[in-house]
Amino acid sequence: MYDLHTHSTASDGAYAPTDLVTRAAAAGITTLALSDHDSTAGLAEAQGAARAAGIRLIPAVEISATWRGHTVHIVGLHIAPDSGPLKQGLAHLRAVRQERAREMGRRLERKLIPGLFEAVSASAGDGMITRTHFARQLAALGLAGDARDAFERYLARGKPGYVPTEWAEPAEAIGWIRTAGGTAVLAHPQRYRLSGGQLRRLVGEFQEMGGAALEVVSGNGALGDTQASAECARRFGLLASCGSDFHGPDGGWPKLGRLPPLPADLTPVWSLWSPHPLPRQRASGS
Ligand code: AMP
Ligand code: MN
Ligand code: MN
Ligand code: MN
Repeated sequence: MYDLHTHSTASDGAYAPTDLVTRAAAAGITTLALSDHDSTAGLAEAQGAARAAGIRLIPAVEISATWRGHTVHIVGLHIAPDSGPLKQGLAHLRAVRQERAREMGRRLERKLIPGLFEAVSASAGDGMITRTHFARQLAALGLAGDARDAFERYLARGKPGYVPTEWAEPAEAIGWIRTAGGTAVLAHPQRYRLSGGQLRRLVGEFQEMGGAALEVVSGNGALGDTQASAECARRFGLLASCGSDFHGPDGGWPKLGRLPPLPADLTPVWSLWSPHPLPRQRASGS
């Protein structure tokens, strides 16, 4: 079973890479991509854990991009994390993120409570600060019912803590991924609140810029979303990926290892990769 979109404590996931990999293996996943936001910091640890658990780890990253004023996410699968342009690009995005987090902190501290940025920063540890960290902290302080509520009140587009941000150009992000030997996948296409026409335009441009696949099955979406994304993949001749976008046990995120299959007529993105024998085959009966 494949799950090609997950998060660890290197960004806004609840579990450390080793813990995530162990849980994925226990859930029956045999090929797992760790795709933290704008960071590859969890990959080395995840690789070791995958070897120990006898599953295949696909090194990946979820890159924040801005397309015509909309934030979109591009997952790079099977990347070489050491690739120069990718490393430089991600370092720049992390600097943008840090500056945005400070500004979010200033705005929300003025409106809500002093010391918020320090608490959020501490909660992210060595990992990246994301809006998810603000959401969890606001909920922990009783300023929101839960993380989802915190997004609705303070963090979603147009809300007091929302700081409009220029992420990477999609063409740039796709270039970094391809230069690193990876495959560019447009993540959760139904989550961008685009009209049908806008989404087709995005996917068409993504394909022309060198994007290879669409995340047709996303743990992050509703049932009808798969059909709409599948239609889009067919129209533009894109491969299909599937990922839970797992972040952790709370907040209503999907469970690991519970993804429906890809529509049978689509070509899975993993058809690009050489087969990889599982490192450890347990003898039957033992
Ligand atoms: P950022 O990249 O810092 O803007 O944070 C985006 C992350 O916030 C996403 O990857 C999700 O994990 C999370 N997120 C976005 N919208 C919501 C929401 N409405 N409820 C809960 N989490 C959300
Ligand atoms: Mn996230
Ligand atoms: Mn995303
Ligand atoms: Mn994600």
